[in-house]
Amino acid sequence: MNRLKKFFLTKVMRKLYQRTGQCNRCGQCCRQIYVKHYKHVVSDEKELERLRFMHRFYGYLKLVGKDEIGLIFECENLDPKTKKCKIHRLRPGICRRYPQEELFSMGGSLCDECGYKMEPIIPFSEVLEKTE
Ligand code: SF4
Ligand code: SF4
Repeated sequence: MNRLKKFFLTKVMRKLYQRTGQCNRCGQCCRQIYVKHYKHVVSDEKELERLRFMHRFYGYLKLVGKDEIGLIFECENLDPKTKKCKIHRLRPGICRRYPQEELFSMGGSLCDECGYKMEPIIPFSEVLEKTE
């Protein structure tokens, strides 16, 4: 990555990780979903009802559980046979941007099947050099 891009991502966008790899369409991220709204993970059914009026994405989500992190959803657009998104061309921005580093701050991680990786923009070896 060139220095200008690195500067933009870390200093302007305040990102620590960059996404590499590509989607292999395993469909895992469309099951067992937590949703972050602004700075918190949605964990309240009443809030979910309000959010459904605000954005079509919430209307796609079927509530399948709840744990100490928040509500757990499965997307109704995921075709259970093909494991593909039924509205792939029209999928919301949140799906297009997945995975983002906020995933980690929610206590989540990428599943083993995922073809993406989240890699530090500034490698650990470079951080060490600066502190020496
Ligand atoms: S809209 Fe498509 S890509 Fe987005 S969560 Fe649902 S199935 Fe997955
Ligand atoms: S888990 Fe990763 S590889 Fe699988 S569908 Fe989601 S983004 Fe694509």
